[in-house]
Amino acid sequence: MVTERMGTLATAARRLTRKVVGAAIAWVMIATGRRARSLRALDRHRRVICVVAHNPTRRLTRQVLEWFLARGFVFVSQGDVLDAIRKRRELPKRAIWLVLDDGWKGNLTEVLPLLRQHGIPATLAISPGETRLEIAWPTLADEHGWPASSFARLVDLPDAERKAACARLLESSGRTARRPLLSVEDVKALAADRLITVENHGYSHACSTRCTPDEFRDEVCAANRLIEAWTGRGPTMFFYPFGAWSPELDELLPECGIDASATSGNRFLDLDDHVGTMAIPRIALLDDITLAEGTCRLLRAWIR
Ligand SMILES: [Zn+2]
Repeated sequence: MVTERMGTLATAARRLTRKVVGAAIAWVMIATGRRARSLRALDRHRRVICVVAHNPTRRLTRQVLEWFLARGFVFVSQGDVLDAIRKRRELPKRAIWLVLDDGWKGNLTEVLPLLRQHGIPATLAISPGETRLEIAWPTLADEHGWPASSFARLVDLPDAERKAACARLLESSGRTARRPLLSVEDVKALAADRLITVENHGYSHACSTRCTPDEFRDEVCAANRLIEAWTGRGPTMFFYPFGAWSPELDELLPECGIDASATSGNRFLDLDDHVGTMAIPRIALLDDITLAEGTCRLLRAWIR
């Protein structure tokens, strides 16, 4: 109990420090004109900002959506982006695509009402094995695993060992997490929303590059089967957990009916440069940062 509390305090202190430092860096970027230059550079190319968010606060979500809308950005859907690559269909200038990874319960109150208010489409990439439990193992590791089963240790294990450690952690934690995931019923209800596309984030949110080819196939195919059973639509796109990607893994995806994938990568999707629908790069919007940092990161006016 004491070590758990110390772990929670250490995590909270780390988050606050990085928020303050992040804001300070962002204001330097803005004051020196770097964000404005990044926006002008974006306009000179056929580029899309593909955003990956997880569990952002309502305040940050509202600020970011309104900031981009006020500057003429158009939020496009997954289908729009894939059509732009496959069929060379033109996207609006300043196109931006939002993906919510993991499927957090908080999305229901912090994000979804704002998407509906503005008619903004989004992709929801879930790990259905985790959705069933309504708990994400990285959260359990963060909240209950410190120090021996900390996230940093688990994510680096070969996947069979990671799975066994997560099962032990689930038992010892009493299956409680302060940050829960959406339930299966939530996902079913969201799938009926015309703004939402439910996609594949791996069955158990494994780090793909720590899986054997068979383990990876199982992660992808099992997730597809469950999501199709819940939503009536089989996913066609895989979103690599932790952005842990390799071209060899992409080659296995069609065996599970998947013909597109996304990584992290911290780059824009360049429609004149990107070949095929695999490994689409995304830029992360962290959960609880300032608008200044969020906009600097999404426009790539950041430290590189
Ligand atoms: Zn994830």
